Amino acid sequence: MITDEEVQAAIDKLDSLNGRNKTKWERIPTTRPGYNSRGSFYDENNKIICLGLKARIDDVVHEYAHVVFDSRYRCLLSFQAEGGPHGARFIAILEEVVTKFYGDAKLYPNWDDEYPHITGYAFAKGYINTPITKRLRNTEFS
Ligand SMILES: [Zn+2]
Repeated sequence: MITDEEVQAAIDKLDSLNGRNKTKWERIPTTRPGYNSRGSFYDENNKIICLGLKARIDDVVHEYAHVVFDSRYRCLLSFQAEGGPHGARFIAILEEVVTKFYGDAKLYPNWDDEYPHITGYAFAKGYINTPITKRLRNTEFS
């Protein structure tokens, strides 16, 4: 598990790379279902990244891509965007954010543990050598 200090350091780095300042984040409250998981999300209404207890740095980077999406397409709620909240526009921003953060998009460790269509995109771009996400391996979908 990553510490609050590690999260803050990642957020600070992301802010400086993306021309932002003091992007808000919090841990999902312990009273809320899912707080104890890796599950994380960006709260578009309150402009805050919410992280599960087991969130990893690459999850922080993914949620930060939602922040950049939100700031760039302010008038558009992400679910209204073409392809939905994880559609083509989001993927382009994720690619941009991870390239800045890791120095090379290939170094984003979450490509094979993303939403399946994002994993497929990363495979097509040569970032990973399998189009199958970790969650789908050894299932009827792999
Ligand atoms: Zn997302």
